[in-house]
Amino acid sequence: MTDSSRTPEPPEGLSDQIVADLEGLSPKGLRKSIVFARELLQSHEATEFPIDPELGDGVLRVTEHEGYTAVVKQHFCEDGCDDCPHGPYLYHVTEETLPDGTRETHWSFIGRVNTDAEDDD
Ligand SMILES: [Zn+2]
Repeated sequence: MTDSSRTPEPPEGLSDQIVADLEGLSPKGLRKSIVFARELLQSHEATEFPIDPELGDGVLRVTEHEGYTAVVKQHFCEDGCDDCPHGPYLYHVTEETLPDGTRETHWSFIGRVNTDAEDDD
């Protein structure tokens, strides 16, 4: 059982200054910090990695390129068939930020890729 009156342990790697600042905040200030941190995180994710790799969902390889992300993905039928998995197929994924701040991901189908030839890009 955890004692709710105990001061929580800050995560490893968080600077003492940030820990001290957060500990000094009111609940209202903490909530604002969470909102701000989440917005910062989103802006980082938008620039560093435009898509969720969804590993385990048929995604075999994700390669960052200037202007797009190359994704090699296998396709499994819902019921499964004798030919499953299909592909793998190569997609070029681009991302667009709409005026309201939401992000739209576009998947362009390029074609089937040969997995025997590794790293031919
Ligand atoms: Zn199939």
